[in-house]
Amino acid sequence: MSELLYGAPAAQAILASLEDRIQALHTRGREPCLAMLRCGEDPGALSYERAAARSCSKAGIQVRSVVLPWTAGTEDLLRAVDRVNGDQSVHGILVLRPLPKQIDTQVIFRRLRHDKDVDGITVPSLARVFVGRGGGFAPCTPEACIAMLDHYGVPLAGARVVILGRSLIVGRPLSMLLVARDATVTLCHSRTRDPASLCREADILIAAAGKAEFVDESYVNPHQIILDVGVNEGSDGTICGDVAFERVSPLVRAISPVPRGVGTVTTAVLARHVVEAAETLF
Ligand code: NAP
Repeated sequence: MSELLYGAPAAQAILASLEDRIQALHTRGREPCLAMLRCGEDPGALSYERAAARSCSKAGIQVRSVVLPWTAGTEDLLRAVDRVNGDQSVHGILVLRPLPKQIDTQVIFRRLRHDKDVDGITVPSLARVFVGRGGGFAPCTPEACIAMLDHYGVPLAGARVVILGRSLIVGRPLSMLLVARDATVTLCHSRTRDPASLCREADILIAAAGKAEFVDESYVNPHQIILDVGVNEGSDGTICGDVAFERVSPLVRAISPVPRGVGTVTTAVLARHVVEAAETLF
């Protein structure tokens, strides 16, 4: 039977590591604060907002929600971004997605102060991930994957890692974080020929393609450790990952479930970023 890599222990360890740092900030008269900007009532955005608020509250971080209607335009959201950019009591900013079609997402991301970009969506944040220094923060989900692997003592140096997915928010930054830890990384995408044969060679397989349960028995080997980043709606309407969990989990060494896996760690990483921003800003 394979080991189940739950996110909660890793998330708790991250939140516990923040206690002294937050205490030190309080001593300096600073209350770390995250502002979350949302348009409308999209269920995915609401669910992430609730999870982020829960992690931040557990850690003792203040949370503010700024809600605009789904009919808001780019200028409306820019004004909201300007307000939190300039507010000295706000240390981290999270722009919840999806944004409505009429909003120019890139214009919004460009306006965001990178030193408050705790979700790692600005170009300076991504540059930091790729260059290894500079301002901003790594996107939370790739960092959560590294935190999971570290928490469960999975060695990265020299490991062969295959990532399914090359998005700018998960696959690509994750590949850079892993390379910085001396892993050997293969990135697969929708045009990759025979991804199953590449995956079978992996010590660590990270599925982040956003396709319900498509990783099956043909992708894995008995020594493999799998992180399933996917959050999809299964054919029965329940949440499932990218991996066909029931069929694959008996065949590998360890696997993270969906839900209760990597997603749980993502908001703890977000809380850590807010604390880091509060320590360094102003
Ligand atoms: P995305 O922007 O849609 O990117 C999906 C990537 O998967 C693309 O690079 C795509 O290739 C690739 N892909 C599609 N089919 C593939 C296949 N058969 N084999 C290999 N690669 C394939 O999605 P995302 O934002 O990166 O999110 C990916 C998944 O992670 C989603 O389920 C999302 O809900 C989940 N997610 C979870 C968290 C968390 O905290 N747990 C956070 C963010 C996202 P092309 O580039 O060629 O199109």
